[in-house]
Amino acid sequence: MKVIRAAARPTRQQPATYFTGTVYADEVVVGTPPSRMRATVVSFTPGARTAWHTHPVGQTLYCLSGAGRVQRDGEAVQELHPGDTVVIPPDLRHWHGAAPDRLFAHLAMSEISDTGAGTEWLEKVSDADYLKPPARIG
Ligand code: MN
Repeated sequence: MKVIRAAARPTRQQPATYFTGTVYADEVVVGTPPSRMRATVVSFTPGARTAWHTHPVGQTLYCLSGAGRVQRDGEAVQELHPGDTVVIPPDLRHWHGAAPDRLFAHLAMSEISDTGAGTEWLEKVSDADYLKPPARIG
């Protein structure tokens, strides 16, 4: 057993290649084989979001604070609120991020594939797509 101290792992700003706006990541765990688990707390500033992407074994997002957005390609943008869980199937094209005017943080959990493959990054989410009004919850 080991305790990884917070002080040992500074918050990392995420690269502009894969994200729009300012996004920070705090690593929770990168599993040691046979574990393939990866968990990260991701904090988005208002208007910030991932690029379009897919995960080979899917991804689960647990919303921690603020107001977020998620979109599956071809469907309406959805609002996210603290306590919501998003289950994203393997190879599904999607993005996630903050609302235009709010901070947002989620815990992102995923596993690498049999071959060690992780997230596949695609193009950035355009402002036109990002700013479409989200679907009503219900
Ligand atoms: Mn994702």
